[in-house]
Amino acid sequence: MSRAIEAHIDLSACQANLHTVRRHAPSSRVLAVIKAGGYGHGLVRVARALAHAGANWSTGADAFGVASIDEALQLREAGITTPIVLLEGFFETEELADIAARELVTVVHHPWQLAALEATRLSRPLAVILKIDTGMHRLGFDPGEVAAAYRRLVACPAVDGIQFMTHLACADERGNEATLRQIDVFAAATADLPGARSIANSAAVLQWPASHADWVRPGIMLYGVSPFPDTVGRDEGLAPVMTLKSRLIGVRRCRRGDTVGYGASWRCPEDMPVGIVAAGYGDGYPRSAPAGTPVLVKARRVPLVGRVSMDMLCVDLRSLPHAEVGDEVILWGAGLPVEEVARHAGTIPYELLCRVNARVRFVEHAG
Ligand SMILES: *Cc1c(COP(=O)(O)O)cnc(C)c1O
Repeated sequence: MSRAIEAHIDLSACQANLHTVRRHAPSSRVLAVIKAGGYGHGLVRVARALAHAGANWSTGADAFGVASIDEALQLREAGITTPIVLLEGFFETEELADIAARELVTVVHHPWQLAALEATRLSRPLAVILKIDTGMHRLGFDPGEVAAAYRRLVACPAVDGIQFMTHLACADERGNEATLRQIDVFAAATADLPGARSIANSAAVLQWPASHADWVRPGIMLYGVSPFPDTVGRDEGLAPVMTLKSRLIGVRRCRRGDTVGYGASWRCPEDMPVGIVAAGYGDGYPRSAPAGTPVLVKARRVPLVGRVSMDMLCVDLRSLPHAEVGDEVILWGAGLPVEEVARHAGTIPYELLCRVNARVRFVEHAG
């Protein structure tokens, strides 16, 4: 048997989650965010599933959002014809020829990008999205600069078609007025300008209907994961797409007082069985997950014990005295929300999903 760790990807769950997006924002088009390799699920795999959305659901995603032209070109190579948006725009002027040739849509968030567009002659003009900073203070033009930037884009022969977007900083915080202020600033900055508008990430799709506008941009919810700190995907009507699985590769009968793992940081309070699981930080499981983090063994919750190592972690099997080598272990996914593991590990589920790495075998379940 090869090393047992596998990431099972349920593409029909992904399609059902897209359907849930549409139920929440029925009047908006959906730009499905699949950057970072489809949040660690596999870029092309997720794009194929969402482009068609399966027999059960009406339509696929209206566009895809990625972070770099490399991801966009991979999608085109794979035969994906859906519009693709470069969410951070282009990084070098040299990318513009490919952006035009592959019919990609680029965000324009900085004056240097405006100047680059003005200085370029292209085989065909580009559709662009002018990004406005309404309070995140990361990328985008200040509201007061929008009208001038818009006029420059209109005058630019390399540009044909201008839309508008902004990004919310606190959409996952219920009742945080900052979100309503951002929506207002965006409306004012774009008031008299023609062009489609986009504001909402997953959290805003779920709880800020005023942000839905022409396009919503869900990411994490497509993977079945809650964007909120206090719920899990199931509470939001979402189904987990990734289940990270492995097996017990050892069961040790430890003595009271024995220590487990590096640093001898965990000590057995009594004679007890300890399970050794083939999963570690070398696979993307967080090393910061402390003793007590839940793990499923044979569909039963048991606590992690000792430090997570590169290839292994250990679990307390006192509640499963008959567990044996080869038994199935679920690190997160079906039956154990990744949100819970992330909370124990002091991070967010986004990071855990993106970190699952190439050593893990991916097993796809068709949509
Ligand atoms: C990543 C990203 C999103 C998706 O955010 P989620 O919280 O995963 O829904 C939306 N818009 C932009 C600009 C992004 O970079």
